[in-house]
Amino acid sequence: MNRRRFIGTAGLGLTVLSGAMARVGNAAPKLTILQTNDTHSRIDPFPMDGSRNQGLGGVARRKVLIDRIRAQREYTLLVDSGDMFQGTPYYNLYGGEVEIEAMNKMGYEVATVGNHEFDNGIEGLEKTMPLAGFEWISSNLDWSGAKALAPIVKPWTIKQIGPFKVGLFGLLCKFDGMVAGHNHEGVSYLDPVESARRSVAELKARGCNVIVCLSHMGYNTRYEGEEMRDDRFPAEVEGIDLILGAHSHTFLDELVELPRRGGGVTRITQQGWAGMRLGQVEVELRRGEELAMRQSPLWVGAG
Ligand SMILES: [Zn+2]
Repeated sequence: MNRRRFIGTAGLGLTVLSGAMARVGNAAPKLTILQTNDTHSRIDPFPMDGSRNQGLGGVARRKVLIDRIRAQREYTLLVDSGDMFQGTPYYNLYGGEVEIEAMNKMGYEVATVGNHEFDNGIEGLEKTMPLAGFEWISSNLDWSGAKALAPIVKPWTIKQIGPFKVGLFGLLCKFDGMVAGHNHEGVSYLDPVESARRSVAELKARGCNVIVCLSHMGYNTRYEGEEMRDDRFPAEVEGIDLILGAHSHTFLDELVELPRRGGGVTRITQQGWAGMRLGQVEVELRRGEELAMRQSPLWVGAG
């Protein structure tokens, strides 16, 4: 056994042990939310060609990490914030089937729709979206003109995971400049702030104790023209606990904490792109208190 592998295995043993101890103690329950965004058809790791990202990513290694965390933790949730399509020949050749199949094998539970999901038009989505073993959510798109897809995409969903009643809703950036008109025929864009407010209200009314937004709006000022960005939502919408972002390909190394309209804080994170990093946010449910959160993202394929 080489040294690196030995250290890796020893570390894993310790983590398994501490996971088991957390289960028998009377500590506050913890939910581990795993997230990717903008994986862009990166099924394989980046080639070992001396470039900056060489060796990073790849769905096989991502699955190993996911399986390991699921074995260690009592409560987990795996989500994607959109743009799983476009970027390598896998998409050009197979139109998204490979990406969806890989996500099914990894056990994704919920995903939102990114702008690149529309790259093969509504016809392309009709072929790929029904293959998903996970739920599609998007609260600010009206699918009523795309009859085959309307029943597949919901504005929000609820996942009951132990004591966590997690309400999730999805958001997409505007189509203008991002999706060609003929590629979203029958799907119309709704105001993201109003849609978010409506979803949060419906999720709260159903007793959710964790509200998560899968946002494909973008985080930073690279998209200055956007009418709305992740970092502007906390001031506009009450009740969002966590925004799992996408679209701007931002690696947020710390959870961004912003004061929330109506009190409390909203946390924001994002995992860059290409499946190089698997987001890991631990949510702690403390009786009668605000949720506590910390993040410890994992690089995929680094060592
Ligand atoms: Zn995008």
